[in-house]
Amino acid sequence: MNYSKTTKKFEDGVEKFMKFAIANTKGSSVIRCLSTKCMNLSFRTDKVVREHLSFHGFDVSYTTWS
Ligand SMILES: [Zn+2]
Repeated sequence: MNYSKTTKKFEDGVEKFMKFAIANTKGSSVIRCLSTKCMNLSFRTDKVVREHLSFHGFDVSYTTWS
């Protein structure tokens, strides 16, 4: 049984977050990383954030931050 991280739904969630985060960078080249490793405290490039979300997963409850 694979964990839901590999499902289409998870990928959609990642894409949705990435688009939202990138749209809110205000010109910065880094965004907050929502991965369970960084816990929304670390700023990373979008490439690294995408990797973290895939490898570590993320807490969907954080996606409501503005
Ligand atoms: Zn991270």
